[in-house]
Amino acid sequence: MKRCGCCKIEKPLTDFYRDRSFKDGFRQICKICNKISMNRWQSKYSGIYKITSNNITLYVGQSKRVNERMSKHRSCLRNPQIAVKHIPTQSYLYPQLLNYSNLQVEIIEYCDINILLEREKYWQNQLKPLY
Ligand SMILES: [Zn+2]
Repeated sequence: MKRCGCCKIEKPLTDFYRDRSFKDGFRQICKICNKISMNRWQSKYSGIYKITSNNITLYVGQSKRVNERMSKHRSCLRNPQIAVKHIPTQSYLYPQLLNYSNLQVEIIEYCDINILLEREKYWQNQLKPLY
């Protein structure tokens, strides 16, 4: 038996995922708590973002890991040659973006992974991005 570090309930070891990085070979939180925190993590980090230049919306996009996508965009904006490698699906965007100044990448909202496409459409209608 092992006590879950999250729900504090004593559970058999079969209720914990094996993880060699821990001393006893199991994760500190049970499978159920693990799943809940994974879902939370995903919904926290999926969302909609926009790329703007002087308040003109150039692009609205969605990502399952929006923070990661944002930092990729930021490094691509600084160094557009690497955009093709980092975000191949959006590499068409970069030659366009480079015609603008003061480019900003911002998260508009975090949302559940299941409604990403819906929210992307909504914001595209609202903000009418140029690309
Ligand atoms: Zn638990």
